[in-house]
Amino acid sequence: MIPASFDYVAPTTVEEALAALAQYGDEAKIIAGGQSLLPVLRMRLNAPEWVIDLGRIDSLKGVRDEGDSILVGAMTRHCDVATDPLVAEHAALVARATATVADEQVRHRGTFGGALAHADPAGDLGAPALALDAEFVIAGPAGERVVPGAEFFQGLFETAVSEDELLIGVRIPKHTGWTAHYEKFVRVAHQWPICAVGATLKVSGGVIEGAAIGLTNMGSTPLRAAGVEQALVGQHATEEVVRSAAALAADGADPPSDLNGDADYRRHLVTVLTRRAITKALGG
Ligand SMILES: Cc1cc2nc3c(=O)[nH]c(=O)nc-3n(C[C@H](O)[C@H](O)[C@H](O)COP(=O)(O)OP(=O)(O)OC[C@H]3O[C@@H](n4cnc5c(N)ncnc54)[C@H](O)[C@@H]3O)c2cc1C
Repeated sequence: MIPASFDYVAPTTVEEALAALAQYGDEAKIIAGGQSLLPVLRMRLNAPEWVIDLGRIDSLKGVRDEGDSILVGAMTRHCDVATDPLVAEHAALVARATATVADEQVRHRGTFGGALAHADPAGDLGAPALALDAEFVIAGPAGERVVPGAEFFQGLFETAVSEDELLIGVRIPKHTGWTAHYEKFVRVAHQWPICAVGATLKVSGGVIEGAAIGLTNMGSTPLRAAGVEQALVGQHATEEVVRSAAALAADGADPPSDLNGDADYRRHLVTVLTRRAITKALGG
């Protein structure tokens, strides 16, 4: 279907974008890479009168070193995040997960901020961001505010970003030297996962000193597998330790049931994927 007609504005600064949002209110919709929004418009599930394109705001593109953290601009495309040297060095889990998003075509249009603002529970970037304690930088009429991951994701396709605000970047504390793996289980190639697990670990002398585990599509928001993390930290990285920690992965999760699998199937699947993700992050 062809989208309902709309007017289009392409600001070149965050201030101009916020002014457009203030002017057009709930008649406006932000477009980033358009990879999730355009299908929605084409199906006429949404018919904004104004579309505000962030594509010309250069300050929102790229990855910056901020000392103890890196800042990924909201308009950084998936293909650029997946190959960025700062992301590879300090947030390897994000690089791994982003490389699994969709196909090359989508990764060349879709953006880091667009995917996170969309907050699809099956989206691959929320769980890694949550696991790495990312902070979300949001700009609005009252200035900038910073929201932790646990408060950013509020429900199915719902985030802390209000209608008059923009997600402008995501600050990720450096996890330098941490190994990482994103284990994604799909029925169809180049698509959202039935369930996925991101694992990133700091290991020294065979002992796990740090563990961060994020779960995708195990609830209406990305989840952190705190029980698994606690069972790993301080332990020798043995097969038995990994297996018994992974068995805790579904604790506290509330997975959906759909045509790809019911909740019990996902509860079992997530323990298998967690074991694989940790084992592969350990180099196995
Ligand atoms: C065929 C296909 C396969 C895909 N497979 C996967 C997959 O395997 N894994 C995965 O994670 N994703 C997948 N996606 C989704 C893809 O990652 C999209 O890029 C992403 O969900 C949306 O990013 P975008 O930049 O295109 O945002 P858009 O589609 O432009 O916007 C998405 C939503 O976020 C809002 N928004 C965008 N940017 C901002 C901002 N800065 N501040 C506030 N609100 C904003 C928009 O208003 C809109 O509501 C797939 C998409 C397609 C088409």
